[in-house]
Amino acid sequence: AHTERDLLYKIHEVANNYFQETLWDSEEGKSIGLSYFKERELKDDIIKKFQLGYSPEQKNAFTAYALEKGYDKEILEKSGLSIFPENTPSGVDRFRERVIFPIHSFSGRVLGFGARILKNNVKTAKYLNSPETEIYHKSNVLYGLNQSKQAISRKNVCLLVEGYMDVISLHMSGIENVVASSGTSLTTEQIKLIKRLTENVTILFDGDNAGIKASFRSIDMLLTEGMNIRVLLFPDGDDPDSFARKHPQEYVEKFIENQAMDFIDFKAEILLKEVGNDPIKKAEAIRDIVKSVSFVQNALKREVYLKEVSNKFGLSEQSLFNELDVQKQITQ
Ligand code: ATP
Ligand code: MN
Ligand code: MN
Ligand code: MN
Repeated sequence: AHTERDLLYKIHEVANNYFQETLWDSEEGKSIGLSYFKERELKDDIIKKFQLGYSPEQKNAFTAYALEKGYDKEILEKSGLSIFPENTPSGVDRFRERVIFPIHSFSGRVLGFGARILKNNVKTAKYLNSPETEIYHKSNVLYGLNQSKQAISRKNVCLLVEGYMDVISLHMSGIENVVASSGTSLTTEQIKLIKRLTENVTILFDGDNAGIKASFRSIDMLLTEGMNIRVLLFPDGDDPDSFARKHPQEYVEKFIENQAMDFIDFKAEILLKEVGNDPIKKAEAIRDIVKSVSFVQNALKREVYLKEVSNKFGLSEQSLFNELDVQKQITQ
């Protein structure tokens, strides 16, 4: 018997095929969608590997196709792929005139889609994603995990990036141990998915303010889950996608290897930049770093990190331990 979940999986499979066929076989798909991917220097094989697609401009193209195939309005609406406003019985597609990034589960089932507009424009959100449905919970999913899981296990480290294109470009460069949190703040569930494969994470976020803020939040989440982390910010203006397209694979790999810092050096570098000679601000920065150390679960590791802070700032371990105790009381 078909449950509603089965039907939702099925309709996502149908939609995924539809968006890919539209990209490769229709005039509109080729001239708009495929040209967009080519402009971003994606090769055919990588477009196919990630099952990228295109959703046409016509407002109910997919909905009409799915109704024709026998899916009813109710299930189309529950899938998030169609909307049926009061006076529009033919329905409206959620994704129109966008390139499509299917989002897969760990085991490779399509759970939802991300969709990008073709021209950057301030009025429309750049990415539109599937809503929460019975099969898609964005806080439980990491983009690229299905395509990257073997490389993550093999290399015993997971690169964590912000966006769809970052994952895809790194794969195209031969760096395949990478997943994206897709712009949402990293969750415990997402970290547990990574932990099935490795305990080592290297955070590669955009070198802008949003990237820095997100990396600080992610550091504390990852430490709380007992992960070992390194952090790298790309030069301002670059993200892993643009960086990977500018440089050969070996250079990118070396860059990540050499430039990634432990979280203490990383936070110190960012926070001390803003401090100048102000001792009060400097103390605040150190407290911020000690707060992150307080999230480290293993007592021995926690002490090693605290020693590092002590050496770095020339402060006594005793006063840092006192501060750590205060922070632990606040955070636990
Ligand atoms: P691109 O290179 O295509 O311009 P990006 O991945 O570099 O995109 P960012 O602005 O750095 O885009 O955002 C990182 C990620 O955050 C995106 O890949 C996407 O998953 C998510 N995101 C960005 N903008 C939105 C939005 N308006 N709504 C929902 N998610 C978004
Ligand atoms: Mn960004
Ligand atoms: Mn980006
Ligand atoms: Mn980008």
